[in-house]
Formats: sequence, structure tokens, C-alpha cells
Amino acid sequence: MKQSWLQHERARDLLSKEVGYVRKPHGGKLRVALAFPNTYFVGMSNLGLQTVYRLFNAEADIVCERVFLPPKSELAAQLASGAPLVTIESQTPVGQFDVFAFSVSFEWDYTNVLTLLRLAGIPHRAAARDHRHPLIVIGGAVTFVNPEPLAPFADVIAAGEGEVLVPSLLSAFTAASDRDDLLRRLASERGFYVPSFYDVTYADDGTIAVFVPRSGTGAPPVVKKAALKTTEAVDPPATTIFTPDTEFGSRFLVEVVRGCANLCRFCWAGYNYLPVRAFPKERILELAQRAKPYSNRAGLVSIALCDHPEIEEILERLVEMGYSISPASLRLDDLTPRILALLRQSGERTVTIAPETGSDRLRRVINKTVTNDEILAAAEMIFASGMENLKLYYMIGLPTETDADLVAIRDLTLQLRDLMLAHARPRGQVGRIVGSVNPLVPKPGTAYQWLPMESDSSIDRKIKRVRMLLAGIDNVYFNVKSERHSFYQALLSLGDRRVAPAIEAAERNGGNWRAAVAETGVDADFFVFRDRSHDAVLPWDIIDGGMKDSFFRAEFDKALREEWTLPPKRQKENARLLPVLQ
Ligand code: SF4
Repeated sequence: MKQSWLQHERARDLLSKEVGYVRKPHGGKLRVALAFPNTYFVGMSNLGLQTVYRLFNAEADIVCERVFLPPKSELAAQLASGAPLVTIESQTPVGQFDVFAFSVSFEWDYTNVLTLLRLAGIPHRAAARDHRHPLIVIGGAVTFVNPEPLAPFADVIAAGEGEVLVPSLLSAFTAASDRDDLLRRLASERGFYVPSFYDVTYADDGTIAVFVPRSGTGAPPVVKKAALKTTEAVDPPATTIFTPDTEFGSRFLVEVVRGCANLCRFCWAGYNYLPVRAFPKERILELAQRAKPYSNRAGLVSIALCDHPEIEEILERLVEMGYSISPASLRLDDLTPRILALLRQSGERTVTIAPETGSDRLRRVINKTVTNDEILAAAEMIFASGMENLKLYYMIGLPTETDADLVAIRDLTLQLRDLMLAHARPRGQVGRIVGSVNPLVPKPGTAYQWLPMESDSSIDRKIKRVRMLLAGIDNVYFNVKSERHSFYQALLSLGDRRVAPAIEAAERNGGNWRAAVAETGVDADFFVFRDRSHDAVLPWDIIDGGMKDSFFRAEFDKALREEWTLPPKRQKENARLLPVLQ
């Protein structure tokens, strides 16, 4: 009783501080409870969640309300009490909704999906549910990376962009006579994957032999990702609900351009959001103007911000409106003095760049198409603009990497530091270089999808070496990730539905993955450390993301030959690679 009252109180308190939430009567509408599988504090800074909420509620026949994981301090008590999980807007139990939809952005949130189902009193496994339960729809970026580890938990996996998926979901509900009919209708729509409609068989060596659609279901052999052909007619994803109770405070987040033309061989986002599609400048600015009473800070969410053909004008107008601007990481080859001056003028003091590695040779292997000379020239421009700090991203565990490449990380960092100091001295104020070094997790849907992750012992040795190389350098601070963290992330990223029991065990034991894997007997090494280049079928082949395997194979071979695939501004070329979007 107490927990139930607390939940209602917390929801009302959160609403009282929000601007922009939607309240609609439920009668006669499709009722969608939309979950972000983490806390309100984390979820409300997620542009994917904000966008899907807007898209659902933009439909007159849908009412969508949000639900989050309770704060850590209250989770155990809420689980123990059995008080049903309620939505924020109307404090209605989630079990009463037609759809319980999840927007999942990170593998680490998989266990939270199960905790939310548990809190709502809904069985984890699709096989244990029926028409009395809401339809469990799992969407978000991870579902078109590799949905398979989540397959046993989802009635439907929504793979692709919400702008396309939401209208299809509504029309299938409107037309369906019952739950089976609904699933069949969804399975025939682009972007909807119904895992229970497929039998998966395995070869003697444990690899997947084939996904077979069950007869009579109408399920396709592969599910084509749903994607917008152009962004001209759609609103840019942007913050629609403002609240001070979130990670980025009342920051106005907006997506400026989708995709990146560089095609780095390890980069899932680069390949999977092609072709590069810019959102209309006028709409971005209109939304920024509308958000101004609630926000002074604009977060520009794009993996390659400067690919927007009108980025300078956008920045100019945002500065005129009085926004301070935080860009995501900037791609070096597109930086201009004007862009840097505008960011500096808006109050930004730090620029984030991703050299990924220290040597030109290894950058050719991964197709990061800049050289050390270009990086140093860009850094000179960055510090000359008045920026004080630099944030760097590097990776280790890359194919063909040697000790010389690790030393090169240190050498490049020292050269960047020299540039920073040279500009800082006349100002009398020295900034910082903050860096992070992450082991490569080979990702589905990239040129490295067949690659085994580097062994624990080798990565461990490299981590120690990099820590030693970077230790004790004044004004340089590095965070070098532990290899175990990456190992379990790789398991969730590269696994198939046989990994699901480990997710359930980790949810029960509070996130102890080592124990979860041991208890369930999941062969984690098989998924993480195996060379997949001879596998007949990869777990994520069930989703057709639009890129051709032959292209990835050619890119992988070029990597080993240390050859670039050069990326001039080439949206047209990228479009040719994408049969899905044509
Ligand atoms: S430049 Fe960055 S976003 Fe673009 S493909 Fe490379 S890593 Fe991905």
C-alpha cells in the first residue's frame, strides 16, 4: 500500500515540474505504456524516448504514457511490495494498457527490461503470455543491431525508425480481429519481427543453421528494417518534455543530421543510419525558438554534425537566440574556424574528437580517413579558436594492432598536449586533455561483424601498457576501460536467443554477469571469441539493415590491406549501397 502511494506521489511530483507532457483520455484509443528501461533521470535525456513519445501521441487514436525504472533506493521495496507499476501521466497500472513498448538504447539495460516486466506483473517470456497481457513491443537502436538475445522476451521487435513504425503499428491494431491476427499483420509489415514465428535450427558446431518462418504466419525469411527515405517531411527528433530532473538538465536536444558518410569499419552507427539525411534547417530553428523559454542550452545530437550542409547558419541562429551549444563529438575533416568560433562564442570550452588510434597505418585499417597531420592541424585550429580543453576517444584491440600503435597513442596525445600548452601560456590558463580508451567490441552490421573479440589476456596486457604509457603526463587524464566490462557487452551484442537465460539470471542476481553465465551454462566464449567468418547464418541476419554482406567482406579485406575507402561528401554513393531505402 505504502509503495503504491509512493509511486503515485512520485509521478505527480515529476509531472508538476515538467513542461510538454501529454494527457489524453483513454477511451476508444490504443493505449501504449512506453518504457525506457532505466530511471527517469537517465531516460528523460534520451532523444529516442522523447521522439517515440511524440510520434505515438501525435496519432489522435493513440494515448501514450511513460514509465521508468524506480530509483535504486526504492526498487527493492517496490519489487517486494508487489505494487503494480504505474505510468507517470495518469498513474494507470501498466498491465491495463494494450501495448507495453520499450525503447532500448543500450545492452546494459536488457536486465532492466525484465525488471520492468516483473514490476508490471507480466511474465518475462512471450511464450508464457496471452491476450490478457499487453503486447510487448521492443524497439530502439539495439533492436536493429541484433535483436536475438531479446527475442524470447518480445512479442514483437520493432526494428528501424519510429517515424515509419508507429503508423504501421496503429493500422495493424485497428484492422486486427484478435491477437494472432495482429501478430500476423505486424509480421507482414516492414520493420516488425515476431520471434515466435520462427524456428531456429543449429548446426553440430553450435552455429545457427537457419531461421525458418513457421508456415501460416506469413512471416518473411528476413525482416527489412524500416527507415525513412528522406527527412524532408519529418520533424527532427527534439526534446518535447522539459524537466530539471534529468541527466542533462533542461537541455534542448535536437537531431540535426542523421548518419555519417565516413564508413569507419567498426562503426555500427555509421553504417546503420545511412544514407546521410539532414533535417530541415528551418524546422530545427523553429523548434529551438519554441523551446527557448525552457532552455538555455542546446545539445546537438548527431554522429557527424558538420555533415549538415547548413550547419554554420544553424549555429549562428542558435547563438543569436542565446543558446550555449554542446555538440556531440565532432568529425575533424569538416571542422572550420567559423564553426569553432560559433561554438566558442556560445560558451563551449571543450571539443571532443575521436582519433580512435595513434597511427596513420591503423587508421587506414579501420577506415578512419584522417591522418595525424590533419588531426594536429585541426587541433591547432581548435586551440586557436580559444577552446581550452580537448576530449579524445581511442580504441585498442583493433585488427593488426601492434605495440607501436599503442605507443603512437601516447605520442599523438603528447603532440596534442604541446599544442594545447602553446595556446594556453599566453592566456595564463592551462586546460585539460581528457581521454578514454575502449577495447573494440566487434559489432553486428559492420565490416568487423565476423571478427572475434581479442582475448582477455591480450586486451588486459594492452590496457596495462596504455595505462603505463599515459601515466603521469601533466594535464592529461585518461580512463582506460576494463576488459571484463567489454566482454559482457560483447556477449549481449553478438549473442543469439540462447543468451536469454543469462539475461534472466543477471536480472535475478542484481547484475552479476559472471555468476549469471556460470549458473545458466551459457557458453559466452563461443559468442565472443569465435571467428564467425565461416558461419552460414549470423544471429542478426534475421534483420536486413540494408547493407550488403559482399560490401562488408570487401571492406574487411581492404582493412587487412590497410586501404581506405575514401569518403568525399558522398550521400549519393551511400544511397547506392542501400537497397532497403530505394
Ligand atoms: S566518423 Fe565517427 S560516426 Fe562516422 S563512421 Fe566514423 S566513427 Fe562512425
